[in-house]
Amino acid sequence: MRLLIIEDEERLAQSLRQGLAAEGYAVDLAHDGVRGLELALTEPYSAIVLDLMLPGLNGFKVCRELRTAGNSVPILMLTAKNGEYDEAESLDCGADDFLSKPFSYVVLTARLRALLRRGAAARPPVLAVGALRIDPAARRCTAADRQVRLTTKEFAVLECLAHRPGEVVPKGGILDTVWDAAFRGDVNIVEVYIAALRRKLDVPGVGCRIETVRGAGYRLVPDAH
Ligand code: CA
Repeated sequence: MRLLIIEDEERLAQSLRQGLAAEGYAVDLAHDGVRGLELALTEPYSAIVLDLMLPGLNGFKVCRELRTAGNSVPILMLTAKNGEYDEAESLDCGADDFLSKPFSYVVLTARLRALLRRGAAARPPVLAVGALRIDPAARRCTAADRQVRLTTKEFAVLECLAHRPGEVVPKGGILDTVWDAAFRGDVNIVEVYIAALRRKLDVPGVGCRIETVRGAGYRLVPDAH
């Protein structure tokens, strides 16, 4: 098992390396985001411990770059602040787990073992329709290789359609999947999100479209059909 630790606090990085090496892991170190990303993209690691606050590229960016490149190595993000925002954002950018500093070494190794057991296979696959790519784990959407910025709800609506390309998904089905049970608004809110998605996905070469099926719902269909 070969691990990469991307951490700019050299003493912390060294002590983690010594501890993990003593447990039989091969450990590489990088002290900035640029070098870390370079190593992560070229070497076959079983898992990466990634600090959030790094010189060069921060942890979020390293993580996003790796996921965009199709690299699904398990990532444990170290967040400096004890903030929910950081933690949520770590998971949103495609990290598999996070640990707030200061952390206990015992907890770190336990989390790493859990990640290694789950491996990279636990990541949901990237959904593809036409030239649209939806990566549920990284919460990322591209159309003809261009990044499309979607709100959380827009992403969820699109993901819902992309799970069943060519099939009609009723408005109520989208509502039940994307909005929680406490939602008391009009089912037609779905139309608002569909309209926004159509605008944002109107990219040359996207190769698919959202069709309205009157009285039934919506479907995401590739252009060839
Ligand atoms: Ca740091």
